[in-house]
Amino acid sequence: MLPPETELWNRVEQTAREVFGTYGFGEIRPPIFEPTELFARSIGLDTDVVSKEMYTFADQLRELDWPEWTYPDFKRWIDLAESSIRDGRIPRFRNSDIIDQIRAAVVSIEKDLGGRPDKEDLIDLRELMDQMVLGESLTLRPEATASVCRAYIEHNMQQLPAPVKLYYTGPMFRRERPQKGRYRQFYQIGAEVLGGSDAPGIDAEVIEMVMVYFAKLELPGVQLEINSIGCRECRPKYVELLRAGLQKVKDKLGADSQRRIETNPLRVLDSKLEHEQAIIEKLPRIGEHLCADCAEHYAEVKRQLDLRQVKFEENWRLVRGLDYYMRTTFEITARGLGSQNAVCGGGRYDGLIELLGGPPTKGIGFAIGEDRVILSLLEAGKGNAAEGRDVYIAWMGEKAQATAIAAARTLREAGFRVELPPVEQKFGKALGQADKLGARYALILGEDEVASGEWTLKTLADGSQKKIAKAELVKFLREAKRDSSLRSE
Ligand code: ATP
Ligand code: MG
Repeated sequence: MLPPETELWNRVEQTAREVFGTYGFGEIRPPIFEPTELFARSIGLDTDVVSKEMYTFADQLRELDWPEWTYPDFKRWIDLAESSIRDGRIPRFRNSDIIDQIRAAVVSIEKDLGGRPDKEDLIDLRELMDQMVLGESLTLRPEATASVCRAYIEHNMQQLPAPVKLYYTGPMFRRERPQKGRYRQFYQIGAEVLGGSDAPGIDAEVIEMVMVYFAKLELPGVQLEINSIGCRECRPKYVELLRAGLQKVKDKLGADSQRRIETNPLRVLDSKLEHEQAIIEKLPRIGEHLCADCAEHYAEVKRQLDLRQVKFEENWRLVRGLDYYMRTTFEITARGLGSQNAVCGGGRYDGLIELLGGPPTKGIGFAIGEDRVILSLLEAGKGNAAEGRDVYIAWMGEKAQATAIAAARTLREAGFRVELPPVEQKFGKALGQADKLGARYALILGEDEVASGEWTLKTLADGSQKKIAKAELVKFLREAKRDSSLRSE
């Protein structure tokens, strides 16, 4: 990412900070990597994210850095690896078998070779050593909700006034096939509301906040879809019903959907396969099988959205790709993105903190795909980030340099973007340079200007030129900037 596009990225992030701030959210900065187990437990093993998309690696213990190629060094390393398994610094799981094989190899080297292995034997030994998992398993975060929940538990945030409202921005990592709007390192802006009640007013306010944010960005073609996917009480019963319904049409489904009948039938509803669409339309719908509490909650969320004048569509097939969601789920799409058009996904996840070892806690949140927001804005011509410079200072002569330096400082302190050439240039060359940089004005400082205190300001767009008193410059530029931003609105 490079300028001038990074300016758009900054604007998108800055606007999020401002809007989320007005709703009482504070920023959290979780780490980029976490123990693998955190994601495996929270997101769920049969999700695409955990089963296929995570960047996972063993954080090899420093002490177990590879030894020199000598037999005594290998033996020291093996002793250390063995004691590290014993004291739990590297996992027993998967290592214990390998260490047994390594021990057997060492015994045979001692017995058969009198403790003098040759190069080949060392290579064989080293191959076995290579198979060990030499540290804690870590994963580059594929999303941040799990980390925020971990932090909530670790920092006893349940003692803070509820609910705790947090937002984050930053890179996420998923092993996907890169294409437009889908990257292996991508950026999310997200927020979570944790603790307190699960009042539908919270769900509606969170959704309102994202919609207000998108409106402020002027994101084109924004559409909100919502659904309720039930709770611990009603969802399992519905899932059984769905599974039974799917069993009846199993033969007509594709391989992925067939597998999901067993592992995660809800995910079948998410299918984009053309020939499955008509079949899916005839399956039982969760809306008709919500328990009384969930039905009431969902009805109230919709009423609260109406109160806030937030427009939405209901989509009974909307299920999220992460296991922890319950009740309210929502997705927002925008224009200009082709098939990767979801810019925000979110929902309620009341059981998640408890699942991670914390107290029973309500939770709801969302994650916005920042890359896609940027793409959509650029597509709609809302990028206009190429600001260039406000003023290019063209100076000639030693006295003029001193004046130019002072003028640059004054203008910069007033917030203007200023380019001050470090060495003297002929005016013609300086003006060419100013043009290339997209400057609005060139401030011309030669001997005459310095002597008289009447500076020359050239408007590069039309080539017009005017004299202006040093003391008037900042005021003039401020007014010109205000006028032009009024005109563009
Ligand atoms: P999709 O169905 O597009 O794969 P998802 O359900 O995996 O999305 P979430 O985990 O809900 O996505 O993430 C929230 C948002 O993050 C998505 O709506 C999308 O805008 C964005 N996002 C997810 N994966 C990527 C990616 N690989 N590259 C860019 N943006 C992404
Ligand atoms: Mg995905």
